[in-house]
Amino acid sequence: MTSDTTVTARHIPQELFATIIRHLIPPEHQLFRSGRHKKRLKRELGQCSLVCRYWAIHCRPAIFTHIELQTPEDAYRLLELAKTTSLGISVGMYISDVTIRATVSSLPWIHLITNTTQPRDLFPNMNSYRVYIQSPFSGPQEMKPFAPRSAFHSLPRSLPSPLKHLVSLELKDLRFATFADFISFLDSLITPDHGSRNAPLSLHRVTWADHDKLTPLEIPVAFRGVRRRWKKYCTNIVAVRCTAVWPLIWLQVTAQRPRPPPTRMPPFVHPAETYRLVALVQITMDECECTACAEHKSERVTLGEVEPGKDFPDCTTLRIRNTVHDLIFCISLDGHVVNICFHLRVAFTAIWQSDEPPESLRLDWTALDQRAAAFNGSMLSVWIPDGIYDEYEPFVRAHMPMTESHGRLKLEREVPEA
Ligand SMILES: [Zn+2]
Repeated sequence: MTSDTTVTARHIPQELFATIIRHLIPPEHQLFRSGRHKKRLKRELGQCSLVCRYWAIHCRPAIFTHIELQTPEDAYRLLELAKTTSLGISVGMYISDVTIRATVSSLPWIHLITNTTQPRDLFPNMNSYRVYIQSPFSGPQEMKPFAPRSAFHSLPRSLPSPLKHLVSLELKDLRFATFADFISFLDSLITPDHGSRNAPLSLHRVTWADHDKLTPLEIPVAFRGVRRRWKKYCTNIVAVRCTAVWPLIWLQVTAQRPRPPPTRMPPFVHPAETYRLVALVQITMDECECTACAEHKSERVTLGEVEPGKDFPDCTTLRIRNTVHDLIFCISLDGHVVNICFHLRVAFTAIWQSDEPPESLRLDWTALDQRAAAFNGSMLSVWIPDGIYDEYEPFVRAHMPMTESHGRLKLEREVPEA
């Protein structure tokens, strides 16, 4: 049977057409990925959008929501597109996420996007911004530290102006000459804005060359005079294979007493206690030499989950966790660490089963004892897996004389969740 009637998308019921489009659009995680597959999908959607106006309206969001830029030409094209209005909608409207993947050496161009004079007008829905700079820094990292400005190659002007409506930020493969450079780079991307939510910060292989010059016993130069307000954006940090974790604590707390009424974000900690807190993170996360860490420690550490404590309702909670240990500080609103919980093991079944007797675990109980005792009046709760608790309890008490003798050591049984 033949028919002279031409069937177009217009003739397909709207719900059915929406379903077809949904199947054409790759899932969110594929859109974020780069590669040939995504390019092909976008090309196909682009072809579909040429069929007719009706198709275009439905296909465009999927094409433009996540944009990846690799070259200055990409940046120029995006800016042109963003200004273009077609079918009554500006293309910039669709864009919610820009990935900058600078893979080839070129004249500076990243600022073209970040310094757009009216980012809010051009990209009103943009809420995420990722920066990957893979080259020309692809050689051995130690050989090529760079200052923030060199991330923009020879950019002679100021650092990029901050995106006011930033929601998440991911930095990858950045090697800084100094920790201070890293902080000023970060500072250039984050700006206080009461309307914004907290920006989860992902750091992958973000490193700095002057680590030896940093000590937990003094506030890094980078933070002297840094605005307290923007720190509230760093309440959640994921650090993967970064130079160290402990200096990142300075991103999450402030030693500057907030004006009343006391606020939770960022948590205020008395300067002296901040040094102790950072020092405790250093020995339990960065420098722990226990056999469990040697065997299982991943290079991924999460910092954050700063939230009102359940057991300590008037406190904020700062949590630092790797694959093996879990360290939680309860901080009172007047800036004192009132409780420290050290979980010998996070609840990973595989690790629970391969425990060793306390002597051969080789955890530095003395350092843990000393650094916890340095907090005035804070309790230390050590959580030990139920299965090994009885064996560990007398050993731990005997090896932590300072907190034990002052009645500040509590041992708890960690019972796995059913
Ligand atoms: Zn350990």
